[in-house]
Amino acid sequence: MRKIECISVFDMMKVGVGPSSSHTLGPWRAAQRWITELKQKGIFNDVEHIHIDLYGSLSLTGIGHATDIATILGLCGHDPVTMDISIIDAEIEKIRESKKLQLNAEREIDFSIADDVKFNRKFLEFHPNGMTFRARLKNGKKTSSSFYSIGGGFVVKKERKNASNKMKSFLEFPFPIEKATELLAYCKAENKPISEIVLENEKSLRSEEEIDVGLKQIWDVMLESMYIGCHTEGTLPGGLNVKRRSFEMHQRLIGDQQYNSPEEWIKAIRRTEVKFRQILKWVSCFAISVNEVNASLGRVVTAPTNGSAGTVPSVMMYYMVIENHEATFEDMKRFMLVAGEIGSLFKKGATISAAMGGCQAEIGVSSAMAAGGLTELLGGTPEQVLMAAEIAMEHHLGLTCDPIAGLVQVPCIERNAMGAIKAINAAEIALESDATKAKVPLDKVIETMWDTAKDMNSKYKETSEGGLAVKVNLSDC
Ligand code: SF4
Repeated sequence: MRKIECISVFDMMKVGVGPSSSHTLGPWRAAQRWITELKQKGIFNDVEHIHIDLYGSLSLTGIGHATDIATILGLCGHDPVTMDISIIDAEIEKIRESKKLQLNAEREIDFSIADDVKFNRKFLEFHPNGMTFRARLKNGKKTSSSFYSIGGGFVVKKERKNASNKMKSFLEFPFPIEKATELLAYCKAENKPISEIVLENEKSLRSEEEIDVGLKQIWDVMLESMYIGCHTEGTLPGGLNVKRRSFEMHQRLIGDQQYNSPEEWIKAIRRTEVKFRQILKWVSCFAISVNEVNASLGRVVTAPTNGSAGTVPSVMMYYMVIENHEATFEDMKRFMLVAGEIGSLFKKGATISAAMGGCQAEIGVSSAMAAGGLTELLGGTPEQVLMAAEIAMEHHLGLTCDPIAGLVQVPCIERNAMGAIKAINAAEIALESDATKAKVPLDKVIETMWDTAKDMNSKYKETSEGGLAVKVNLSDC
């Protein structure tokens, strides 16, 4: 068996708190890792004072992306998957006022949010999303550790890039896949759809029962985020005064249907017998709802990132309530296995970090993931699945990241709806095509995306220094 770096579907789709996987979830996880490091070194109980330095893109859009809040919550021992998100504001306010922080919920130390979190415009060489945690110990000695949030909630340390392949985290998959061509070859040799090949790989990491439990949790969080978004009105936080739109959109679409839970909601939507011209509105409503939840520090699933968290679930929901009223969790499972694998191909061959590749790396990848998942469920061959993913990305190439005021709101929220619609369109085109004669293989579009990412001006890579971010003033809103 060949050795390959392990990227599981659960790496590509993770439960997290908004608004950003690279700027919120990643820094949160980095803070947790640093606490673990302090404990492993046996100096946790000696920490007297802490300082956080945020660099580059984490600094430039860090306030809008709640990077400071995320790191503080991580230091306090909260977990993004389980924390009661309704208490975040109160927790932060308590720390701000008291100037005390409960380190890992175990020890109280002095901590001033104003003085002990520094936003540095400087970029660290290794990656645009760098952060350093520093501590002063009781004996006067100092210790520090730097982490890099490389997109989708993944966090690495510098050593990893310079490490030899032997030092990397490798696992042995029965079907090692780095390129789409390899994935296709396994499908042909085994006469299996993509989801089954991916499932075999996942089974080398955990039992099928664990896979089902994990994917069910992912789907439940996706469904809940759509449900919460569609039933919450008001204005998003951050100062842009962006009105939550999915609430009214949903009210007009659902009419007088009755339901009491997300599961009943699915049946209620099916009963509305969606008319042709309402399809786009429903899909947009689902996508927008997730990203409104994300923008208000709600719980969503990275797919592959928080900023693009609405695209995949909205296309899954499209399949459930419009394409196939008999759809079950088994269908959602197949969708997620395919989507996760497509996302990992982009992570291995290019990037899923907007700070590295602009929005093509977020919405473009999410659209490709959704297009691939949908195509398999609609009966597409593995070639058509890969072709759909390719089409979806091809028409996102060059898409820049320029969030106004550094908030994951404009253009981000609508962009998820556009990514979802393109994904459905890409699936339909692929299903009508002889994908064995595709002019642009998926691997080539991944390479092209990476080349485009490297050529892209850094103004358009999650810095809010170009594009819409500099054309629209907060005071105009
Ligand atoms: S513009 Fe795209 S990449 Fe940038 S923050 Fe918004 S969704 Fe993410």
